[in-house]
Amino acid sequence: MAPDKNLILVLNSGSSSLKFAVQNTGQRTPVLSGLAERLGGEGPSITFKDEGGKRTAPLPRADHAAALDAVVAELAARGWIEALVAVGHRVVHGGERFTGSVIITPLVIADIEACNPLAPLHNPPALLGIRVAMERLSDIPHVAVLDTAFHQTMPREAYLYALPMEQYRSYGVRRYGFHGTSHRFVAHEAVGLLGLDPADHGLVTAHLGNGASATAVQDGCSVDTSMGLTPLEGLVMGTRSGDIDVGAVLHMMRTEGLDVAAIDTLLNKKSGLLGLSGLSNDCRELEAAAAKGHEGAILALDVFAHRLARYIGALAMSLRRLDAVIFTGGIGENSPLIRAKTLARLQPFGMALDADANEKVIRGRNGVITRAGDKPCAAVVATNEEWMIACDTAELARKAAG
Ligand code: ADP
Repeated sequence: MAPDKNLILVLNSGSSSLKFAVQNTGQRTPVLSGLAERLGGEGPSITFKDEGGKRTAPLPRADHAAALDAVVAELAARGWIEALVAVGHRVVHGGERFTGSVIITPLVIADIEACNPLAPLHNPPALLGIRVAMERLSDIPHVAVLDTAFHQTMPREAYLYALPMEQYRSYGVRRYGFHGTSHRFVAHEAVGLLGLDPADHGLVTAHLGNGASATAVQDGCSVDTSMGLTPLEGLVMGTRSGDIDVGAVLHMMRTEGLDVAAIDTLLNKKSGLLGLSGLSNDCRELEAAAAKGHEGAILALDVFAHRLARYIGALAMSLRRLDAVIFTGGIGENSPLIRAKTLARLQPFGMALDADANEKVIRGRNGVITRAGDKPCAAVVATNEEWMIACDTAELARKAAG
């Protein structure tokens, strides 16, 4: 396949991995994608995936530069370098400095760096990826697409914690929200799918993957969300607790003598579906175990659905009107069971599951899963963050080119 001169390279740089996708701007599925893994560890490798299949190769060094060199070499071998128009970078935390995607300049890099204390695990590797990519691909624009930017429209009563204002003013302690690219994408798609008015609608979007968050979207803008200063707040996740009484945290620290690092690990790595089930953080695995009667798995799925329904109810109160609940992410798109358990708890909204539709809308399909005519309704919309990043990147690159 020979792409036209419209390729966007999308990079998502983590501490030990580099995820990439090459998007043709006219097409939603990437023409090439892949993952470099074990960067900084033993046996680093890179996997390329295209319509012909998957191929994995070892990397000569375990760093981000080696991973990006391999991506660039692959593009060159395919004769695609000339067709590359821009690079889009996923960045987790933009604090209050970014309300949308931006062309990366030295000032933008400094602003992202200033947000490092808010996301010490996520922002430094993103910056590393940006620096390496800007060196290797120096003659095309680079764009930062920030997970927090979509939520900058939240009103202050939604984003402030009830703390002394000094905490916000001096240290930026407030709710920022994450998964913004996904919430923005599925909300936009849902408006089309459900025939809603782009200027007058109310949605609660639930992004349920390993991390999970829900957002109230009013007329295309985020007005409230479940994640906070960090991605730990809100819903039950794969290994994160989500909401917990801070008093319970203090209690555990006092009675078990846990220090900050131990509490951090407990809440972020050992809790959520994993902690409740004692079995796994993986929803699919838990569903299989629950079907065989595993008590921990059944409990974990019930707590997950209960918390989600409770949040959907609460977030609906930040809207003028609730038109629809939208499910997305690995769990939202593929788990009829979680959707059914959640909708069973949303009866006060007067919507009910269409069991047949619910079973059929899986594996990337979009569709309504409540009874015909239910208002509000519930629907599934497959997310596509890479495509959204590519769209923002292409648009900014076009504008920059004049
Ligand atoms: P990430 O947040 O890492 O991008 P994903 O959006 O891919 O994660 O979601 C991963 C979650 O989706 C896992 O808990 C996985 O078990 C769940 N999942 C994927 N397919 C299914 C399925 N068929 N049934 C239930 N859960 C599923």
